[in-house]
Amino acid sequence: MINVFQPSLGKEELERISQVFESNWIGRGKLTIEFEEKFAEYIGSTKEHLVTAHCCSEGLFSSMHLCGIQPGDEVIVPSVSFVGAGNAVCASGAKLVLCDVDKRTLNARAADIEKSVTAKTKAVILLHFGGIPCEMDEIMKLADAYSLKVIEDCAAGVCSSYRGQALGTFGDMGMWSFDAMKILVCGDGAAIHFKNPEMRERAARWFYFGLETKSGYENSVAQKWWEFDISSFGHRSVWNDVTAAMALEQIKKLPVFMEKRKAVHEFYNEALKDIEWLDLPLLLPEESKSSFYFYHIQVKNGKRDKLAGFLRENGIYTTYRYFPLHRVPGYGISGEFPNADYAADNTLCLPMHQNLSAADLELIAHMVKEFGRRYC
Ligand SMILES: *Cc1c(COP(=O)(O)O)cnc(C)c1O
Repeated sequence: MINVFQPSLGKEELERISQVFESNWIGRGKLTIEFEEKFAEYIGSTKEHLVTAHCCSEGLFSSMHLCGIQPGDEVIVPSVSFVGAGNAVCASGAKLVLCDVDKRTLNARAADIEKSVTAKTKAVILLHFGGIPCEMDEIMKLADAYSLKVIEDCAAGVCSSYRGQALGTFGDMGMWSFDAMKILVCGDGAAIHFKNPEMRERAARWFYFGLETKSGYENSVAQKWWEFDISSFGHRSVWNDVTAAMALEQIKKLPVFMEKRKAVHEFYNEALKDIEWLDLPLLLPEESKSSFYFYHIQVKNGKRDKLAGFLRENGIYTTYRYFPLHRVPGYGISGEFPNADYAADNTLCLPMHQNLSAADLELIAHMVKEFGRRYC
């Protein structure tokens, strides 16, 4: 079976992990700190703006607390979003308000968000679908106009930028996931960027029980190092150096990963361009860079599910992301989301990872065309 997503891990990661074993310290330590510095630099920021956390979902949940969202507040989330975003809002006691998205990019636009703004709206959790940047100029203008906090879910946008600026650095908070299905992988892990360094300080405490930084794990000088004070009833969401060892090797490989993903993207663009029953991803605007996390096609003749089944029978696994939250009964959402509905019913993500061979790609293109010959 050709996987839809797949990590690229090698002997470099194993070697680095074995050094961690030898060091006899596998917890949060100097490798984690080194990764935080490297990643901050990678996105054109500094470590004063960045923390690492267990996972991106933890970042989404914590964003509600860190942005001061209270019960009764409203938070806007595009209907095409990761389930963790919806859960984060609901778990905080705030009201989840969904907005529609662009039918082709699956990103929310400023106009979609604005329709859902009320006097109670405090924040928006933005998803950059598949690492394709949202229209950040317009969205940040809207956020300013209504004093909204902006939380960027750029889980899959590790190499994405908009007008030369890394995604995740526009909003009050931005977060990247390094889980097993992302581009840079380390088992589980996330980086979270804060525009305001003071907020980053609060977050660093929040992710370690709310311990004051002068106590607990960072204290090595006080006389009674077992004493501590807390500033909030925080979580425990920190990295360990095994995770960091993997991530430090992976970050070096990102340029190569990106070249490969871009080549896969271009292969599909060329190979599938003349299929009249398919819409391919839109060309990126000049000023944007994508991480090419998804290659999402849209089947215009209503046969998306049949195509997915056909490909699977022929050894090619595909999927659709992200199931629209307005269709999740548990959220109790009413209203019309025609573009999110269109996307959910017609979009398919083809295999996209660094290990796809030329033969894999030829087979995928061949099978898509074969489906057309047989059924369209
Ligand atoms: C994977 C993913 C997440 C969650 O990341 P974890 O690190 O697994 O918690 C959040 N948002 C999006 C868009 C994702 O793809």
